Amino acid sequence: MHAPTAPRVPSSGHCIFCDLIRGAAEVSICYEDATAIAFMDIQPVNPGHVLVVPREHYEVLQDIPGSVGLHLYQVATRLIPVVQASAGASDMNIVVNSGAAAGQNVMHYHIHLIPRRDGDGFDVPLPFPGSVMPNRQQLDAMAARIGSQLRDPLRN
Ligand code: AMP
Ligand code: ZN
Repeated sequence: MHAPTAPRVPSSGHCIFCDLIRGAAEVSICYEDATAIAFMDIQPVNPGHVLVVPREHYEVLQDIPGSVGLHLYQVATRLIPVVQASAGASDMNIVVNSGAAAGQNVMHYHIHLIPRRDGDGFDVPLPFPGSVMPNRQQLDAMAARIGSQLRDPLRN
């Protein structure tokens, strides 16, 4: 597990979310406080698609100090029913793409709140149709590997 690190500048040297947080780009803010900001996604899956973002630049959850990560989830939890009602949606996907291989395009950590309606055409296909189902022994072996890593004092 990564130890929380000090806030960093973007590794690429430029970050669109840092730009809009410091007022250098257009943004439609629906919530803000000293730690977090929430704004409308510029290319929403559905109307009401909101991004909950730390003000400081962190790339992925494990980079974020615990108190900031907790706060982001508290903000998201507060926003969810309000966004859902405002967008007239029945349900919600809460999505984090963590890392480029996982589909993260903006490398400034963010939580997607995506209002959903029946038949809206969006899909997060889980269980994955291409999954090769492991047997119980394989599931147990992976669970044990993760558990033993968690107990390794060198990782904590
Ligand atoms: P991800 O692929 O998880 O990194 O998602 C990045 C999200 O940021 C996408 O849904 C984009 O539509 C959204 N996005 C990119 N640029 C902006 C911007 N300037 N303002 C608001 N949302 C943005
Ligand atoms: Zn940033």
